[in-house]
Amino acid sequence: MSLGDRLRGEIAAGGPISVADFMSRCLHDPQDGYYATRPAIGAAGDFITAAQVSQMFGELIGLWLVETWRRLGAPARAILAEAGPGDATLMDDILRAARLDPAFLAACELWLVETSAPLRRLQAERLARAPLTPRWAGAVAEIPGDAPLLLIANEFLDCLPARQFQRTREGWAERRVGLDSKGDLAFGLGPPLPRGGFPDAPPGSVVERSLPQEAFAAEVGARIAAAGGAALLIDYGRAAPGVGDTLQALAGHRKADPLAAPGSADLTVHADFPAVQAAARAAGAEAGLLSQGEFLRRLGVETRARRLAEAHPERAGQIARQLARLVAPDQMGELFKAAALWRGPAPPGFESL
Ligand code: SAH
Repeated sequence: MSLGDRLRGEIAAGGPISVADFMSRCLHDPQDGYYATRPAIGAAGDFITAAQVSQMFGELIGLWLVETWRRLGAPARAILAEAGPGDATLMDDILRAARLDPAFLAACELWLVETSAPLRRLQAERLARAPLTPRWAGAVAEIPGDAPLLLIANEFLDCLPARQFQRTREGWAERRVGLDSKGDLAFGLGPPLPRGGFPDAPPGSVVERSLPQEAFAAEVGARIAAAGGAALLIDYGRAAPGVGDTLQALAGHRKADPLAAPGSADLTVHADFPAVQAAARAAGAEAGLLSQGEFLRRLGVETRARRLAEAHPERAGQIARQLARLVAPDQMGELFKAAALWRGPAPPGFESL
């Protein structure tokens, strides 16, 4: 029985479910969830990330991690962790760049936070010849907390589910997934909610709240506050609180109907950076936010692109297109943002915010 059929049966018996619960089932259902069974990252798959756009992305993040570790006083032991490593292109590029500081590699223990069994296999293959041997955890809570944490997550927050609330004439109500008169999955609204905590917005407006995004930031922030370290969270998302339905399904690089074939597409929401930063600060960490374009420029992406093009003149046009894709305001440069969480000296790029 397909996930769609099972969800229809469960909703018929137990009533509508929240958008967050629907997202969790579509992504992680053990039999049919997208990440549990058929994640397809890359040009031939469903979506590509900045890591697949250009090696420059991971290399600069590798240098960011090395320099952040130095600013922490080059501790003899550190936990290098990535949440949601996907096909491990990013970690592969990070570790290649990090080879320029053998002391950094000697200090780091590598942990990958990953729930997907097929992606864990892919990561093991991709990193088989890397200078560090990974260990896997299902959540940040399972990683040792007795050394400074250096954590990176690219397009991970967007996989953490959000509930949605819609303004109606009567007030706010939770948006849920239920059944229409034909028995198909359809969005609907729950009973009216007390007014508290919602913004002033016209009827029809949708706001999102992701407790898992906030819990992740609180956990990482608390670890950094306790043991030192820094985290870099890159994603598409909002820089200021706002309204808007950002639930999106992507299959074969095209937007799909999120309700059409549960489990067959990647399903995401925007990262809620104001909530992520607030949760990390409440846990005792400092937090800053830049656009991806500004972050990569501060790390010297333009110089890196020029050097690469000089070394490979035949690829100069391609490198220029990749650079534009990463930093141009009408491509990934503005929609994507980089949040840093830290304790102690600010990490590269976040010194003067
Ligand atoms: N960071 C990669 C790919 C991001 S795709 C890149 O930049 O290319 C999202 C990744 O997060 C996948 O590896 C997916 O399996 C993982 N993931 C999604 N939800 C997760 C969760 N709740 N816990 C741990 N990993 C999760």
